[in-house]
Amino acid sequence: MLSMPDDCILQVTDLKKHFPIEAGFFRRKKIGAVRAVDGVSFSVETGRTLGLVGESGCGKTTTARAILRALDPTSGSVLFRTREGIVDMVKLKGPALKGARADMQMVFQDPYSSLNPRLPIMDIIAEPLKAHGYPKKEREERVKELLSLVGLRPEYARRYPHSFSGGQRQRIGVARALALRPALIVADEPVSALDVSVQAQVLNLLLDLQDRLGLSFVFIGHDLSVVRYLCDTVAVMYLGKIVELAAVDALYEEPRHPYTSTLLSAVPDADPHAPWRRDIVKGEVTGDEREIVGCSFEPRCPYAQEICRNQTPELSSGTVQDSTHLAACHFAGALDLEGVS
Ligand code: SF4
Repeated sequence: MLSMPDDCILQVTDLKKHFPIEAGFFRRKKIGAVRAVDGVSFSVETGRTLGLVGESGCGKTTTARAILRALDPTSGSVLFRTREGIVDMVKLKGPALKGARADMQMVFQDPYSSLNPRLPIMDIIAEPLKAHGYPKKEREERVKELLSLVGLRPEYARRYPHSFSGGQRQRIGVARALALRPALIVADEPVSALDVSVQAQVLNLLLDLQDRLGLSFVFIGHDLSVVRYLCDTVAVMYLGKIVELAAVDALYEEPRHPYTSTLLSAVPDADPHAPWRRDIVKGEVTGDEREIVGCSFEPRCPYAQEICRNQTPELSSGTVQDSTHLAACHFAGALDLEGVS
């Protein structure tokens, strides 16, 4: 019998996704593995938003795909509260997996390539409904309802993607994700391909839908201002691991991991007269094809000491007794790190 806290919709434990590196004439020899996701654990409360942030290649999108089972994880568990009860997404197959996916949908990064240019909007949004056996009449009604929900006119249903702007296309992507009335949406950088002027409209739409439909989100982003605006909890990833996990304000105002502080230094201040702090991270990213002994951020960390090279830091509250703010640093809570107000 699977269980998780009553207020949780998703609980990810020690999730790993390693891609084998093969060599030899028939590529039969495994000489290592790229540890794209390497032991990630977090949970999402019902009706709340968890943000996953980090630089490109840190494993955010692979984590999202492994949760949805668009990729098969190497190990770990993904407990998810569906309409039928709690399931482990990692162990599901066939119709059971298809059923669970109805409750967990994805909004993709690029609204230009994620919509089939040869299909009218009606067919694009109705795709998941068709896959789940909804009759034609019901599909058409639902598509019109969804278009209104995302702020588009139902008459647009017969138009093709090329007649819409980037913001409108992303609204169509959101409508498609909502077609089966999911409880959780995984949004993979849903506004990063949009003009800044349109980003706010789509973000406000997501917040509005969360309010009206009680949705939960896993929001992947690299724009820290956007993540702060939308998320309740934030997990910072570095080389496939979570290095800091906390409520959004605590993480932004009092970071406990040097990497988080460095990321935050890149957030522009709204005050044009404020001095600009910009920490440049020196050093190389450690190769991810071998198991890292010690702290993975050590080659770039200005606070590194001997223990950092020999002992892998666990995600913990460090010197401060606060189980809601965790960092994977031997000196978490003891370093004088700058955040943003
Ligand atoms: Fe830096 Fe050491 Fe903390 Fe790693 S454990 S972030 S190297 S101080």
